[in-house]
Amino acid sequence: MNEHDSERMLALLEGCGYRETKHVEEADVMLVNTCTVREKPEQKAYSMVGRFQQLKEDNPHAIIGITGCVAQQEGERLLGRIPALDFVLGPGKIHKLPEILRDAEKGKRGTCSVGFENGCPTNLPTPHTAQLRAYVTIMQGCDNFCSYCIVPTVRGRERSRPSAAILAEIETLIRQGTKEITLLGQNVNSYAKHTPGELTFPQLLAKIDEIPGLERIRFTTSHPKDLTEETIEAFGYVEHLCEHLHLPFQAGSNAVLERMNRGHTREEYLAQIKKVREVSPQMGITADVMVGFPAEEEEDFDQTLELIRRVEFDGLFSFKYSPRPGTRAARWKGECTPEVKQRRLEILQGLQRGITLKKNKELEGSVKEILVEGRSRNSPHTMRGRTRCNRIVNFPGGSDLVGALVFVKIAKGLQNSLRGERCG
Ligand code: SF4
Repeated sequence: MNEHDSERMLALLEGCGYRETKHVEEADVMLVNTCTVREKPEQKAYSMVGRFQQLKEDNPHAIIGITGCVAQQEGERLLGRIPALDFVLGPGKIHKLPEILRDAEKGKRGTCSVGFENGCPTNLPTPHTAQLRAYVTIMQGCDNFCSYCIVPTVRGRERSRPSAAILAEIETLIRQGTKEITLLGQNVNSYAKHTPGELTFPQLLAKIDEIPGLERIRFTTSHPKDLTEETIEAFGYVEHLCEHLHLPFQAGSNAVLERMNRGHTREEYLAQIKKVREVSPQMGITADVMVGFPAEEEEDFDQTLELIRRVEFDGLFSFKYSPRPGTRAARWKGECTPEVKQRRLEILQGLQRGITLKKNKELEGSVKEILVEGRSRNSPHTMRGRTRCNRIVNFPGGSDLVGALVFVKIAKGLQNSLRGERCG
């Protein structure tokens, strides 16, 4: 979501006559688009602003802004805390960036624009440059209030975009060369839950599927509580919907899930995975999981490991719990020690590495459709693309293949990618 917001801000900056530079020393505008979902990225954002402050000593006209969730959370306090900061802009006010920049150019600095307006902006700026794979926001915010999560506070309540605006944006992107779109939302599969008369999420998928020229559809992030049978069934009939589902489960113990206020049990989660694999046996399944939630006992952690063994995820994003100010869990006692969190994370990641490698090896000999994205990072004669189930594949080829759908026979399953030979 932040990556997409950064793209939108870049499009707005280009509209104001600015050009992107790869050299920060040359920049007249320096923005730090921040994340507050865990402690580490927040600290990284502050140290980056510190570096920009030093650069401003050589270029006093430069404009420094903090955007994103730290901006929403801290608001005006940031202006008091960081003297060189020129403005603070929350994620619900991105469309105000041109106005704020014009004011800053004229010397009016110290603006703070945070909060949320009613409804999701209909027309969000899209990047001006052609993108093979593009993000499209369909909803913003979250109503779930998981006890550890700051997102409902810093991104606001759920707001869905009108389907007509979404379809029009996708048509524009396809005209510019996009082949694959990822529908974005904090809780994407609760799309339009509160908008009577609007398309449901699976109906929206089916409509997007009809747009000529689009090769692939993905969506993220889903919540198990809002993943309906109708959405799961859509994987069986929406032709361009890729066989990849990112479905966070966070913990394998019902006691922990309840304290997290997740609104689902491990049994319900496992039943959904079973149904998903019945509809689409090839489905690549990934998830988010955390270790060291307050009062997580060894038995709770064992249940998380057991769930991972049972599901055999294709990949996992795993994190150590860190208390976020303003959340309920941050006030709770019983936080695990850093050593316990580290040990559990290493055990969990070791388990998942073994599963990922095993699953990648199982693909050896199979033929996969690949959307070619560009050159491989390691060799100029090797191209890099992605399967429908979201695995990276490297294979010999030339850059004329970028943007093409090709078939590749998988020769080798590695830890983080697959290697193969083109066969069609
Ligand atoms: S569903 Fe996701 S975004 Fe919403 S509160 Fe829970 S963790 Fe945060």
